[in-house]
Amino acid sequence: MSGTVHCWGHQPAIAQTPHAPVWRDETPGQLAALHARFGTTLPFGNGRSYGDSCLAASDHVLHLARLDRFIATDWSRGIVRAEAGMQLATLITAALGHGWFVPVTPGTRFVTLGGALANDVHGKNHHRRGTFGRHVRAFGLLRSDDGTLECTPQTRPELFAASIGGLGLTGIVTWVELQLMPVRTGWLDTVTQRFGRIDDFFRLSAELDPLHEYTVAWIDCLARSARGVYFAGDHAEFGPDAPSPGRVWGVPATPPVSLMNRASLALFNQAYWRAHPAQPRRARSWYQPFFYPLDRIARWNRIYGRRGFQQFQCVLPDAAAEPALRELLGAIAAHGRGSFLAVLKRCGDLASPGLLSFPMAGHSLALDFPHDPALEALFERLDAIVHEAGGRLYPAKDAHMSGQHFRHAYPAWERLERLRDPALMSRFWQRVTT
Ligand SMILES: Cc1cc2nc3c(=O)[nH]c(=O)nc-3n(C[C@H](O)[C@H](O)[C@H](O)COP(=O)(O)OP(=O)(O)OC[C@H]3O[C@@H](n4cnc5c(N)ncnc54)[C@H](O)[C@@H]3O)c2cc1C
Repeated sequence: MSGTVHCWGHQPAIAQTPHAPVWRDETPGQLAALHARFGTTLPFGNGRSYGDSCLAASDHVLHLARLDRFIATDWSRGIVRAEAGMQLATLITAALGHGWFVPVTPGTRFVTLGGALANDVHGKNHHRRGTFGRHVRAFGLLRSDDGTLECTPQTRPELFAASIGGLGLTGIVTWVELQLMPVRTGWLDTVTQRFGRIDDFFRLSAELDPLHEYTVAWIDCLARSARGVYFAGDHAEFGPDAPSPGRVWGVPATPPVSLMNRASLALFNQAYWRAHPAQPRRARSWYQPFFYPLDRIARWNRIYGRRGFQQFQCVLPDAAAEPALRELLGAIAAHGRGSFLAVLKRCGDLASPGLLSFPMAGHSLALDFPHDPALEALFERLDAIVHEAGGRLYPAKDAHMSGQHFRHAYPAWERLERLRDPALMSRFWQRVTT
């Protein structure tokens, strides 16, 4: 594989040299060679993690994108076993034809099965289905010390738990066996309603979340009242044929500076809020625009310019969520910052099988900021609010959290460290554990 790969936010902007096996049986040899030559490496999926959790300490990654084939499918029971480099996009396209869908999907379908497992990703239905790891039946794990192992909750409970949300540090996941969710079509029945204040969001969330499979809200963090738009959706019972794929636009090059500034954001937020109805509006939507609005713009991360951007995603426990959220939004406004993407969603109380899984019962807030040196002071303030509220930050989106906050929020990190494959080390893990 030629060229280099990066993390999604280009922050830190450290190029990774990819080493990419084409067949599964080449993987042990490549892992051994990287271990011998560079000391450590890290599995790399499709680089949709924002910060340094997908960057190898050695800057040489084992890139698994070419391992993207089905190994076994049982469409009568919705059980598939596929190589870890397969993207959700490929799996969904195949599964929909048989009446199945992935039970948990993040906001982009261009993530690999291995990456989804290693970050134990969550979606808009966390309150109903929990995290991705809850639906994993088994996976293959290649270790530099123990060779190839098959992990299930029964056969290897420790490694199973440590690898789900294990940030790629317990071994190379070579294949994943997943239980899919039955659906009738790829269409969703949706409800959209804007709200004027953050209190209204909490009211809508309490009333409507229990009624719907998927719920999420966008908020206008530049407005004083933190107004926003609440979206809910459920798989439809019927629908027309799949629409023809829309045009995918792309950002052709990285501009020298971010196109996201306060003036452009204010205009966008105003127009976006007004475009949505004050009263609940029902509609039918194809799954792609509902789940993956940003996937229609290839390489949208380039709009943040050469300095890249950082995402700040936290989850706040239920008891402290509302006041802490107000404090976070107040601190962002006081710094004169805004975010184009500001997503608020409720996480439920279904436990993850993963040791270091991010979600907890409460509310999660995600915001994107163009990178600049002033972010450091803002993030320090935001991190302190999250820490005091008993919440935590999401490693998959992180490029800045302190080791102290990480170790406090993820006390099981030491158990993961004991199970870490000695040949694997990320820049993130080095930063937060040493
Ligand atoms: C637009 C957008 C929306 C998103 N929305 C959400 C969301 O709603 N919810 C959410 O949870 N996340 C979300 N994410 C984050 C994304 O889902 C995760 O970062 C995901 O893990 C990325 O998968 P990847 O295949 O690109 O893996 P990478 O980013 O390349 O790697 C992620 C981690 O997985 C490890 N890894 C990759 N492959 C393997 C393997 N085969 N074996 C072992 N470890 C491996 C890597 O070492 C790394 O630690 C979003 C990202 C984007 C860009």
